Amino acid sequence: MTARLLDGKASGARLRAALGERVRGLGFRPGLRVVRVGDDPASAVYVRSKDRAAREAGFDSETIPLPAEVSEAELLTVVRRLNADPAVDGILVQLPLPKHIDPQRVLEAVDPAKDVDGFHPVNAGRLAAGLPGLVPCTPKGVMHLLAEAEIDLAGRRAAVLGRSAIVGRPMAALLLAADATVTVLHSRSRDLAAECRRAEILVAAVGRAGVVQGDWIAPGATVIDVGINRRPDGTLTGDVDFGPARERAGWITPVPGGVGPMTIACLLENTLDAALARRGAEALQPNGGVAEAHATPAQSYGHGPGLA
Ligand code: NAP
Repeated sequence: MTARLLDGKASGARLRAALGERVRGLGFRPGLRVVRVGDDPASAVYVRSKDRAAREAGFDSETIPLPAEVSEAELLTVVRRLNADPAVDGILVQLPLPKHIDPQRVLEAVDPAKDVDGFHPVNAGRLAAGLPGLVPCTPKGVMHLLAEAEIDLAGRRAAVLGRSAIVGRPMAALLLAADATVTVLHSRSRDLAAECRRAEILVAAVGRAGVVQGDWIAPGATVIDVGINRRPDGTLTGDVDFGPARERAGWITPVPGGVGPMTIACLLENTLDAALARRGAEALQPNGGVAEAHATPAQSYGHGPGLA
C-alpha cells in the first residue's frame, strides 16, 4: 500500500482563503501583533510568513521587533500595552526568547482572550477540561487535516509521540475530545516501536529526524509528522522515515508541506475567533471549532461539554 498524502499546503491555502472571505464580510480588520525579540534567523522567517499570510487574508497585522538585549520588564510592558489596546485582537510572542527572559512569565502576561498561540495556562487548562478556549495552532491544524480527509477518530487508537505544552499535550487533548483512545509517548516510554505499531492514528512531535521507523507503522495507519528537522544540507525532514512509512500507512503528511502550513492558517483562524469573541459576536468553540468548520452529517467529532 502507498499512503495518500495529507496535503497541508493546499489545505492551509483553502483555510486561509476561507478566512479571508469571512474577514472581508466583517466590516473591521482583526488585529494581530507579533512580538519578535532579537534576530534569530529562523524566527525572522516564521514571523515574516505569519505577517504576510495575515495581511493577505485582510488582517491588520504588525510585527513589533525588539532588540535581543531588551529586558524582561520592558518586554512585559509591551505585552501589557497590547493587552490594553482595543485594536489588538491577537498577541503572539515568538519563541524562543533570549536566555535572560523567562518565556513562561511572558506567556502568562498575555491576556488569555488575546492569546492566539493558545499557550496561556488558562487556555491550556480549558482545553484539558474540554472547555471552549483558544487552542494551540499546530495541533489544531492537525485536527483540520484529519477532518478534511474525513478520517474517523471516534474509538480509534491514537498515539502521540511527544508531550510538550505546545504540541504533544494539546494534541492528545484534542484527539481525546474527538473520542479517540489516546496514548502519550515520550523519552521515558518503554518500547516505542510496539506502542506505535498499535496506533491507528500516529502523531510524531519529537524533533528527531527518522525517530519513527517505517516498520513502526501499522498497515493502513494515519501518520502525522509534526517534526521539523534540518538535514546537514539545509533541507527539512520530519520525525518519520517517510519513504518506508509511506509504503505501510493509509494516510501520511509530508515534511515540508504537511502540518507546517496549517499552523499559520490556524493562527489566523484563532485571531478571527478571538476578534469575534471579544466583540461578543461569537463564543469560542470547544476544541477550537475545528469540527464546526468541517461539519457534515457524517462527522460528529469534536463535541465537548457545555458551550456558552
Ligand atoms: P519539544 O518541546 O522538544 O518536545 C519533544 C518531545 O519529544 C518531548 O516530550 C520529549 O520527551 C519527546 N522525545 C524526545 N526524544 C524522544 C525519543 N527519542 N523518543 C520519544 N520521545 C522523545 O519539541 P516540540 O516543541 O513539541 O516540537 C516537536 C517537533 O515539532 C520539533 O521538530 C518542532 O520543530 C516541530 N514543530 C513543528 C511545528 C509546525 O508548525 N509544523 C510547530 C511546532 C513544533 P520528554 O518530555 O520526556 O523530554
